[in-house]
Amino acid sequence: MAFIPVNEPLLNGNEKKYLNNCIDTGWISSEGPYITKFEEQFAVKMGRKFGIAVCNGSVALDAAILALGIGNGDEVIMPTFTIISCAAAIIRAGAKPVLVDSDINTWNMDVNQIEAKITKNTKAIMVIHIYGLPVDMDPILNLSQKYGLKIIEDAAEAHGQVYNGQPCGSFGDISTFSFYANKHVTTGEGGMILTDDEELAKKCRSLRNLCFVPKKRFLHYELGFNFRMTNLQGALGLAQLERLDEFVLIKRKMGEKYNSLLKDIEQITLPVVNTNYAQNIYWVYGILLKPESGLNAETVMARLGEEQIATRPFFWNMHEQPVLNDMGLFINEKYPVAENMARMGFYLPSGMAITDAQIETVSEKLKLVLQ
Ligand SMILES: *Cc1c(COP(=O)(O)O)cnc(C)c1O
Repeated sequence: MAFIPVNEPLLNGNEKKYLNNCIDTGWISSEGPYITKFEEQFAVKMGRKFGIAVCNGSVALDAAILALGIGNGDEVIMPTFTIISCAAAIIRAGAKPVLVDSDINTWNMDVNQIEAKITKNTKAIMVIHIYGLPVDMDPILNLSQKYGLKIIEDAAEAHGQVYNGQPCGSFGDISTFSFYANKHVTTGEGGMILTDDEELAKKCRSLRNLCFVPKKRFLHYELGFNFRMTNLQGALGLAQLERLDEFVLIKRKMGEKYNSLLKDIEQITLPVVNTNYAQNIYWVYGILLKPESGLNAETVMARLGEEQIATRPFFWNMHEQPVLNDMGLFINEKYPVAENMARMGFYLPSGMAITDAQIETVSEKLKLVLQ
């Protein structure tokens, strides 16, 4: 029985050609034509004016928070169910993450819980599109207007997704993406910041490059970082971006195939196919074990592992992170929907290169394990 990995990227477009060009021309650092091309074309694709490529999606969030001037005493509202990068960026800037629970259907932040968490210190809402469906943006855009809050949009799992026809990544004052190997567009490691605001774009470019100033090299008025992307990564990104529409179709087909093969399994909840504002793109194909199944994700994942099927657990919530509790954050806070998701959810092999035969094998093994 062949092992089925949880993710395998598809790199059979122009990737090799563009990478060879980097090597042939010697442009392998963060100077080189592919970075600018990738930034420009990615921004156009997402309907934004400015793109700033960085070395991963986590630091894209760091730069976004700092560029918005969020710091000491400020609060940012975000979902508890997400990756640590989101909370880490807020905390490292000296600000405080304020959490909301998840929506039971879409697994995204419950937008109905946001308004009650707004205080005089709230500066922004961090929107994070999770696993394949976008966050319900209209209520958030209304709150942002009503209270004068910035929107930071983490679209790391939503390349090519749209909300009411408008691209994810086009809603934030600043929006960020990741190009890690399991994302819809990959550069191995990589990230992008998008904005329509020229000042924010300038600020992000400066933070990315150690806050060098143009007029005198090695003179600094601010502390920045080396968050630069390489031309090699830009080359990969450009080749991947050319196929984004096709990649979204591949993922939707994968999701539909899993849906049809798994729909009769009593013990699990499948991802929602449609909401009234979007159609799932299945960044990953996640499933939730029902409480009445008497099972939990850890045991089912272990059994699938024995059958040579790789899986990944769902996110572990921010309010249940020892590192954050040790800082005195989120003590005694409870978010029941997200707590259930973290314990009962996991995702099946769902990379871009997955085959129909692999999807069938995974589905059979899952049925076997749940018998
Ligand atoms: C992948 C991901 C990130 C982090 O991106 P890296 O490139 O791995 O640093 C941030 N936010 C979300 C929602 C992600 O899925």
